[in-house]
Amino acid sequence: MFSEKCLQNQVAVITGGGTGLGKEIAKQYVLQGARVVICSRNPDHLAAGKEEIQSLGGEVLTYQVDVREPKSIEEMKDSIIEQWGRIDILVNNAAGNFIYPAEKLPLKGWKSVIDIVLNGSFYCSQIIGNWMIESNHGGQIINILATYAWTGGPGTIHSACAKAGVLAMTRTLAVEWARYGIRVNAVAPGPFDTEGARQRLWPTQEMQQAITREIPAGRFATPEEVARAILFLSSPYADYITGECLTIDGGAWLGKGIGKVVEHLEDFEKMRMAAKKSKHQS
Ligand code: NAP
Repeated sequence: MFSEKCLQNQVAVITGGGTGLGKEIAKQYVLQGARVVICSRNPDHLAAGKEEIQSLGGEVLTYQVDVREPKSIEEMKDSIIEQWGRIDILVNNAAGNFIYPAEKLPLKGWKSVIDIVLNGSFYCSQIIGNWMIESNHGGQIINILATYAWTGGPGTIHSACAKAGVLAMTRTLAVEWARYGIRVNAVAPGPFDTEGARQRLWPTQEMQQAITREIPAGRFATPEEVARAILFLSSPYADYITGECLTIDGGAWLGKGIGKVVEHLEDFEKMRMAAKKSKHQS
């Protein structure tokens, strides 16, 4: 995408970086010369992710971290600084999600998603942000949202509320931390197929097809397309962008409601022609 390795020597920390989108972001960063740190709870995810990223020639550190535990994030940050001496980019990508009607959602499920997505993103941002501020290094944070943060979405009350909180966090930190040379941005992808999302959000082909019908572009994004947009926001080409949320959804959220008229535009044209014809005849 870029003509030179625009993240050369930079260190990027990606939560949930062993699977799905997180792993794809790590791969894009490594191709641009960055060293990457991936962290999550399951060591098997980390080992498989590390192998794939290393196969591109990238340097990778892995940490078993639960983003709900500030102590484990603090220890990871200290260890990265000891080994690599810097952190330039934090991507808050870790998330949990499942579809559940709001009136029946177990409070444990509500708390768990809020803890991972909202609290976890803040703990990571505060701990790594403090290092960026105190060391006078600056840096940047990218948060991964979903468009239901502002549209709402049935069955996603826990995730939608958590992501809406992270959108507010993105804008608040962008304003507070601009003076420290820290940019804070977000992306809101539409559906893209990963093993985790498939299991939890569209377990059948019928469900996947029903979701696809709602997307004006007529297909899901690929994780690579989403990761490339994140790469742009992380790059020097986006140096003056902060507090922004870049939507990558093939037009899906704009196509909601009245937007569906697009499927009937030709019917409108036929009606206009018929009306014109009958006017001429009378
Ligand atoms: P995924 O592969 O299931 O990614 C989720 C990652 O989060 C996993 O690597 C998981 O690793 C990690 N994780 C979960 N709980 C954690 C915790 N407490 N501490 C640390 N890590 C934790 O799913 P994905 O589809 O790539 O999703 C990535 C991001 O994109 C998420 O923020 C999601 O909300 C967002 N998104 C996805 C879609 C989509 O259609 N797929 C659409 C919009 C937004 P462990 O299990 O090893 O902890």
